[in-house]
Amino acid sequence: MNISAALKWVLQNEKVSTIVSGMTSLDELQKNLAMIRDLKMSEQEMKDLKIASIGSETGLYCQQCRECIPQCPHNLDIPAIMRSYMYSYGYRNMEQAWFTLAEAGLSDNLCDKCETCSVKCPSGFNVKKKIADISRLRDVPRDFLLA
Ligand code: SF4
Ligand code: SF4
Repeated sequence: MNISAALKWVLQNEKVSTIVSGMTSLDELQKNLAMIRDLKMSEQEMKDLKIASIGSETGLYCQQCRECIPQCPHNLDIPAIMRSYMYSYGYRNMEQAWFTLAEAGLSDNLCDKCETCSVKCPSGFNVKKKIADISRLRDVPRDFLLA
């Protein structure tokens, strides 16, 4: 995902007056400051946005609506697990993904007990598949991810 393209797209909406952008380094801060001085999108950024919108059909960004929780017989904290998925695949921040997954308390392979997933996500996520995918991160030792 081209982050500057996404931020420019949001800031070009006249109904949006501010954004909260997570920055973890001086380099990111400087890039963001340069970006807001010129919101015109480059050809590459336009292309990247188009690819991202096609990619959203497979779903990367959970809306955190929480409609899934009461649908799951095990009351899994699916929104938190989906945040972990987003940190991992969207931002490539594996450390944050690891912590978020740990906070979600996904200790057992509960999804294996469901033949079919009863969750109907309004964003069209295949929740069971995503949980199976991100839960592999539990097996990675924490100190392996720390810089
Ligand atoms: S229902 Fe879908 S979009 Fe809403 S919180 Fe659950 S996974 Fe996210
Ligand atoms: S497959 Fe997983 S997310 Fe779906 S209902 Fe079962 S435990 Fe909940």
